[in-house]
Amino acid sequence: MLSKIKNFMWIATIIYFTLGFFNIFFAWLGLICFLTPLLISIIKGEKIYCNTYCGRGQLLGLMGERFNLSRKKMPPKWLSNRLFRYAFLIFFMSMFALMIFSTYKVFKGAELKEVITILWTFKFPWRLTDVSNVSPWIAQFSFGFYSIMLTSTVLGFITMVLYRPRSWCVYCPMGTMTQGICELKNRKENF
Ligand code: SF4
Repeated sequence: MLSKIKNFMWIATIIYFTLGFFNIFFAWLGLICFLTPLLISIIKGEKIYCNTYCGRGQLLGLMGERFNLSRKKMPPKWLSNRLFRYAFLIFFMSMFALMIFSTYKVFKGAELKEVITILWTFKFPWRLTDVSNVSPWIAQFSFGFYSIMLTSTVLGFITMVLYRPRSWCVYCPMGTMTQGICELKNRKENF
């Protein structure tokens, strides 16, 4: 059963973005995709999440292979360069930290911004959810986290179209982090 379900994790990704589109609070569910791969790599020292359970990776593979939306070209070498991957990870995590800081500011009384930001640049007012019944910082985190999830998916789609279907996985911050954790953990165990 589980072996069948794991092939359909891409559906969970579509459901996640659809639910979040209509009700921004579903963005919080994205924390599952954020914490699970980290926990697996810390506890088991394996990249099993990437290889088996990542819905986004599966969705990109499906769009590129089955729907032929990818040019299927080799990605440029710099994309898989260690320096670039870690620089992108640092940039991505800095943006994540800024999002947490914005949430903290709202927690402290700053005004809630009902906006989705894509690629850290393009801002779209987003008022499909009634946010008046919850603490503003909960809503602020939802907008910020949904923006991050959307941004990484947009980048994934762009690289899927331009290069091979799962080229995003070459520089995906989560992939870089789990790879780094697994390398560290396995190196420690081999000492
Ligand atoms: S590298 Fe990123 S997108 Fe690719 S499978 Fe891993 S977590 Fe998913």
